[in-house]
Amino acid sequence: MRYVSTRDNSKEYSFEDVFIKGLADDGGLYVPTSLKKFSPDELSELKNLNYNDLSTEIINQFSSDFISKDELSSLIKKSYSTFREKDVVKISNVGDLKLLELFHGPTLAFKDFALQLLGNLYEVQIAREGKALCVLGATSGDTGAAAISGLLGEKGVTVFILYPKGKVSPLQEMQMTCTGAENVFPIAIEGTFDDAQRTIKELFADLEFRASVDLSAVNSINLARILAQSVYYLYAWLKLPSEERESTTFVVPTGNFGNVFAGWLLTKMGINISEFRVATNQNDVLHRLFKSGEYSLGEVKPSLAPSMDIQVASNFERLLYYFLNGDALRVSDVMKKFREDGKYSFDHFDISGFSSVSASDKEIPSLIQSVMQEYDYLVDPHTACAFKDLDPKKKAIILATAHPAKFPAVYQHAGMEIPISSSLEALKSREPFFYEVPFDASSVRSFILEKISGK
Ligand SMILES: *Cc1c(COP(=O)(O)O)cnc(C)c1O
Repeated sequence: MRYVSTRDNSKEYSFEDVFIKGLADDGGLYVPTSLKKFSPDELSELKNLNYNDLSTEIINQFSSDFISKDELSSLIKKSYSTFREKDVVKISNVGDLKLLELFHGPTLAFKDFALQLLGNLYEVQIAREGKALCVLGATSGDTGAAAISGLLGEKGVTVFILYPKGKVSPLQEMQMTCTGAENVFPIAIEGTFDDAQRTIKELFADLEFRASVDLSAVNSINLARILAQSVYYLYAWLKLPSEERESTTFVVPTGNFGNVFAGWLLTKMGINISEFRVATNQNDVLHRLFKSGEYSLGEVKPSLAPSMDIQVASNFERLLYYFLNGDALRVSDVMKKFREDGKYSFDHFDISGFSSVSASDKEIPSLIQSVMQEYDYLVDPHTACAFKDLDPKKKAIILATAHPAKFPAVYQHAGMEIPISSSLEALKSREPFFYEVPFDASSVRSFILEKISGK
């Protein structure tokens, strides 16, 4: 399989370029040049596979020029061996609705699906090339924790994660700082997530530095992450009775549009999914886009569902590429205009296949309580957004993106019993370690160089 950038499809790339670099040099995102269409017969064969084997079949479509199917299969087994569910995901019935529980991985959020696998792909690459990698990311919580868990103790990889001090949940912080791993450097900055993100982008734009330390990006623009996530949509869809498949909606708590795009990609592969319902918190850039056709920046407002506190939904650029029929020049124009004006209005924005909803911070605790009353099921604050204005008579699969125990304060304030997870409790007895570095690019660059040369 070959890949192109959403902003220039005259140059082709390999799977290795895609997962190592994450972001194309022209600032665009990688997309595959073609997609296999599964026939109904092939789909009935896939229906019989367990989660790991289904992952192997799907990801192999994209990665076969980098890794053999057998090798991929054992990487996938290894990646998901740390999950607490026997078949990796669990589907729970609540009333007539289905909840696809994606929080049984080591850091209790769906990001583990992609980052456990990405860590193992890096390991293969390092063993082949004998060259060390330096992984750099900014996080508002879950990505940092999942990336650190996926790369913990891995030879040849040094991990630097910037996070805003005091602005991630205390348990998310412990997941990053209480690992005891020597190859991990959590960096607490005296700034916001946006400051961290801007510093990272500056470092990636320094092509000389980027090449000298073999810098790799782990945020959700990395296509390898998206592909690993497509699998659980297909797994859940194949488990539906065939007469319900076409009428079932996937409801997805959304921030950067990575997770919902992973599901939508299946519709290009012969999988008939009629609707994706995008559920945001009060940071509603996508909800406004789907309502009005205008994509416009707003201020990030910290919310009770912090992992969705995002105002630029990076992966929307991939959807745009497909909506514009692969016209990379137009994508490039739209993104340029968006950068300049902070907004872009579409004349003919065809949103068929999508609906959206936005839940405020006032609504999140009452959504949690009403789901509890109605179904005796405790959702986390991100998943709670998916229940806003949901028609209980419609067939729906709701993606449960995190375990409630990661966000105890929400339940405490609502006067509810505080959920507990033994893996998080174990962190509390460990000594945290983190570094404090001024968040300007040159200080972070010096810090990285110093730590790498000391190895
Ligand atoms: C990252 C995250 C989201 C948002 O996913 P996107 O791919 O950014 O849309 C939702 N819920 C939780 C718990 C997350 O960690």
